[in-house]
Amino acid sequence: MEQSKLLEQLNRFTRRKHTAQEVYMFDVILCDNEVDRDGECFTKQALETLCRRFEGVTGIFDHDPKGSRQTARIFATELVEDPARRTAYGAAYTYLKACAYMIRTDSNQDLIREIDGGIKKEVSVSCAAKTSRCSVCGSTGACAHEKGKVYGGRLCYRELEDISDVYEWSFVAVPAQVHAGVTKQYGASGGEDPVRKALQAQLNAQQQAVALARQDARKQIRQLLAATHSKSAAEAVMQSLEGMELARLYQYKDALRRDFSRQCAAQLQPGEHAPLDSFRM
Ligand SMILES: [Zn+2]
Repeated sequence: MEQSKLLEQLNRFTRRKHTAQEVYMFDVILCDNEVDRDGECFTKQALETLCRRFEGVTGIFDHDPKGSRQTARIFATELVEDPARRTAYGAAYTYLKACAYMIRTDSNQDLIREIDGGIKKEVSVSCAAKTSRCSVCGSTGACAHEKGKVYGGRLCYRELEDISDVYEWSFVAVPAQVHAGVTKQYGASGGEDPVRKALQAQLNAQQQAVALARQDARKQIRQLLAATHSKSAAEAVMQSLEGMELARLYQYKDALRRDFSRQCAAQLQPGEHAPLDSFRM
């Protein structure tokens, strides 16, 4: 991109217009679609979201030897495809490139020299993905496949998708590994802590049990309503039960059943008036 175009884009994020001499602009690769050291990769959809969401986000230079917290801001992002390079799973390598800027000051001269010298090019990205999908079976929950292993000639990794949050980006002090430092979170479960995973599995099982019980209670209520109410009234009641917690659903079901029994008993004893409309919401 031409420098004047870059400046124009940059100045959308500044309070006043800056000249080329006042700012320092540089490119960083935020993340890509390669399988990382955690056995995970971003899908194209995830990269597209990250591309949009990282614009305007401020990054931090960690571990500054002088202790001063220098920051830089991303003012433009783009997805770049490198068809000559393939990922571990055979797709065209795609990375998210960002243009960042800093306002030149006396205190960041050294830092700028370091970036120019290629020392501080590795960045760490922090974001949250709602979906993590197994590349072998497509499951978005737990499955039998282990990341990094090969099943029937297919590498197992997790595809990260549905980015819900973009937190920050920062420069890694030691750019040792390729694809260093992309940190991710998935939904509420977070990382790979085995205890947390076990608790999450337990919670999922309980939620499933509650959902089944709720379904069963609603089914029984529907049957009771069908015997005691008109179709439209029954439908209205069913709608009003939407989202009701399980304990209250049971209470309601029991009340309906008592009511129904009373009605049946009344009908068997002619002469007594049966309170047909006795149960109303
Ligand atoms: Zn699987």
